[in-house]
Amino acid sequence: MSVNIPRGTQDILPGQSEKWQYIESIAKDVCRRYHYKEIRTPIFEHTELFKRSVGDTTDIVQKEMYTFEDRGERSLTLRPEGTAAVVRSFVENKMFGIPDQPVKLFYTGPMFRYERPQAGRYRQFVQFGVEAIGSEDPAIDAEVMALVMAIYKEAGLKKLKLVINSLGDAESRTAHREALVAHFKPRIDEFCSDCQSRLTQNPLRILDCKKDRGHELMATAPSILDYLNEESKAYFEKVTSYLDAMSIEYVIDPTLVRGLDYYNHTAFEIMSEAEGFGAITTLCGGGRYNGLVQQLGGPESPGIGFAFSIERFIAAMEAEQVEWQVDEGLDCFIVAIGDAAKDRSVSLVHDVRAAGLSADRDYQDRKMKAQLKASDRQKARFTAILGEDELAENRITVKDMSGGTQEQVPLNELAAYLKTTMEAN
Ligand code: AMP
Repeated sequence: MSVNIPRGTQDILPGQSEKWQYIESIAKDVCRRYHYKEIRTPIFEHTELFKRSVGDTTDIVQKEMYTFEDRGERSLTLRPEGTAAVVRSFVENKMFGIPDQPVKLFYTGPMFRYERPQAGRYRQFVQFGVEAIGSEDPAIDAEVMALVMAIYKEAGLKKLKLVINSLGDAESRTAHREALVAHFKPRIDEFCSDCQSRLTQNPLRILDCKKDRGHELMATAPSILDYLNEESKAYFEKVTSYLDAMSIEYVIDPTLVRGLDYYNHTAFEIMSEAEGFGAITTLCGGGRYNGLVQQLGGPESPGIGFAFSIERFIAAMEAEQVEWQVDEGLDCFIVAIGDAAKDRSVSLVHDVRAAGLSADRDYQDRKMKAQLKASDRQKARFTAILGEDELAENRITVKDMSGGTQEQVPLNELAAYLKTTMEAN
């Protein structure tokens, strides 16, 4: 009996995994420059954490979580997103006591949601995200947006749209909520059953409904921007003025609401505008979550963050046909002919690797011709050939595959020779 991979998951094979590493390394380097440090939290958490933070009424909590009971009868859940765990850790480790606030963190790792799999939507996917917790300065909102745009830009993506909105503070949201209820209530029976329960539980999320997107009441729904109080309005204006100052382009979309419960003030998404990207164009989502730290038992500590998935990042790179700057080739392949040369090549390949270069040899007892072919297939920059004559004279023939030149090099100088030649080019 053969066992297949579970639906909605994928194997990342060599050839693809280099792309993942490439994106992760760019993201980590940008985080270093923006002074965000890595945090690693568990893959599973108490189910309660997500109910309390993501929100009981959200699709994630109601329909998408991988929840199980462990042998100690605790309800645990594979994390569907990263913010809840980071905030839990912030509280549990009393990071609010660190003198320099905000605490600026990044994370990366697999997330799990029981969604209907399709292009760009998986049941296990890898998110990269940042959280800045402990400041309500609008400059930090602008900073996290600048950070993620820098990651995309560095990778070579150009066809992006940054969409922002303000969800306002509690007072603004209450006023808007009442207006939404008044707007939808008289005709709520024309909406799906999810929207009908959203009307009482969280009317804002009606605007997020995929099924009722086309209903005429959607287009005329009250805009949050008309319900922002003075403070929220001033906050939003600061955020946009900082984006302007950094020449970061954006569009304001008052219908952008985001699916998770904990957001307020700044909400943003980044879309791919590349042709042929597919139906799901959202690459990244983020926003401010003042109040979440308190909700999880900490002191008042306002936060903001975002997350994107590497899967959709790669899809955007492919759609824009950005060239991958990944080095798949091998520095040196050692071809050994005859038993004595094969034995000698064991320590030889070891020396080249110890000098910091990538090197490989034959492990299938192949003839010279087949070894040379293997060197070619593996795109080796140098092919080093060790036959009986060479071994007797303590030298090796080194072919530079890029220029076609050939040199005789003393055996114990192979690594040094390869290094100098590579540096010279
Ligand atoms: P969210 O946590 O839902 O705001 O999602 C943030 C980002 O994670 C999205 O913009 C996507 O890039 C990515 N994402 C969310 N769900 C999935 C999924 N099922 N498969 C792949 N990427 C996803």
